[in-house]
Amino acid sequence: MATVRQQIIQKLEASRMTAHELSRELRQSEQEILKHLPHVARSLAAIKRRLVMEPPMCLSCGFRFKKRDRMRAPSRCPLCKGEHITEPYFSIEPGKEQNGVRS
Ligand SMILES: [Zn+2]
Repeated sequence: MATVRQQIIQKLEASRMTAHELSRELRQSEQEILKHLPHVARSLAAIKRRLVMEPPMCLSCGFRFKKRDRMRAPSRCPLCKGEHITEPYFSIEPGKEQNGVRS
């Protein structure tokens, strides 16, 4: 039996997913998935790959959130105070030599 972390890696290697989708696919609470993600990132670093988080975006005004430490979606837009925020998507990419900056 694969561990939850291995299953998360398998899923994300196949396609990009939100924590919510992962929780549904793996039958774990979203809380549980979010708890595993930092560890997943660390195991990936060991095999020269990295966990990429696509920052959430406000659907009302298009505001893009900057890279966040927290992996959970924010509840409100700082600009328009809208509450229609996309969930962050996670995916796996090959690691880079230097610390890659993504826009
Ligand atoms: Zn907004």
